[in-house]
Amino acid sequence: MIPFLDLKSINTQYREELIAACTRVIDSGWYILGNEVKEFEKEFAEYCETKYCLGVASGLDGLILIMRAYIEQSDMKPGDEVIVPANTYIASILAISENGLIPVLVEPDINNYNLDPSLIEQKITRKTKAILTVHLYGQVSCMDEINIIAKKYSLKVIEDCAQAHGAIYKGKKVGSIGDAASFSFYPCKNLGALGDGGAVTTNDRQLAATILALRNYGSHKKYINLYKGINSRLDEIQAAFLRVKLRYLDKEIELRRVVAMAYLNSINNPDIQLPKIESYDAHVWHLFVISTSRREQMSKYFDSNGIETIIHYPIPPHKQLAYKELNSVNMPISEDIHQKVISIPMGPTLSETEYKRIINVCNRYRQ
Ligand SMILES: *Cc1c(COP(=O)(O)O)cnc(C)c1O
Repeated sequence: MIPFLDLKSINTQYREELIAACTRVIDSGWYILGNEVKEFEKEFAEYCETKYCLGVASGLDGLILIMRAYIEQSDMKPGDEVIVPANTYIASILAISENGLIPVLVEPDINNYNLDPSLIEQKITRKTKAILTVHLYGQVSCMDEINIIAKKYSLKVIEDCAQAHGAIYKGKKVGSIGDAASFSFYPCKNLGALGDGGAVTTNDRQLAATILALRNYGSHKKYINLYKGINSRLDEIQAAFLRVKLRYLDKEIELRRVVAMAYLNSINNPDIQLPKIESYDAHVWHLFVISTSRREQMSKYFDSNGIETIIHYPIPPHKQLAYKELNSVNMPISEDIHQKVISIPMGPTLSETEYKRIINVCNRYRQ
């Protein structure tokens, strides 16, 4: 069986360095908000070309904290609206509702699965305060168009970069193109820790200071509390692991691109729709998502040919029980996407033999 993503083979490449990082943390005697987190924040801010980076407990927490900070700063208040793509992973939407803000769903562009900028303006009301855009599957959204709309209506732009570490849009790294961004280091993300982790990047000094306090009980100074904060910190041990893996991120992205280009150039089957890319740099291939009108049949076909596939995602957030209030909303493009997409194996350690076999199996498929 060719696994969808072989995490063990990814991490064992760096076994010695990861063990050294782990030893360093054990021997430091300091396990929360110490030197490793500080150094990782510096290195990741440099990588993303932003002034600030703040380690937090997860990608979801990063998004929650960005909006929570805007509320503390009176840039928004509970009941305000945030524009978000209807076909995102549910975490983007959870972060909005967690803050008492209202998610306003906008359909994606069928060609790139990202927020369709031409549909945003009709959803803007007097309560709209932000556009939360998601660089889904690893491809940057149409940031120029989004930033122009945001400027016209004085909205914040929040990037959900959980799937897109290192993607570049017109010379700019994701995480630096909006007002603030959240990254996830969940193990299977392109930059994965060996547990949970996340980070916020921004060039906004005030926002960075607010989040710095919020992630640590609302305290900017020991035992002095400015806000009713939470505990959402990146662990020293995860920061130490991430410092090792960050050094290989660009190399791993290139390896993903080799696989993606092979798929794009060699899968040639009228029953399989391949993803479309805007530019080589703008996609880091967290997922390689194909689309088909008979997904169940195709899923079984891959399974019987020894290839593991996963569906990202089978049910749109607005059809989940968690969002009963949105169940009657009509999102035909998003619903259609959720019925047709299927992700085939993608990762930096997928071998040439493996991806050539996957291409061959794809080309032999008949509906
Ligand atoms: C993974 C993911 C998140 C959440 O990240 P966690 O670290 O798991 O909390 C948020 N948004 C998107 C698009 C994701 O893929």
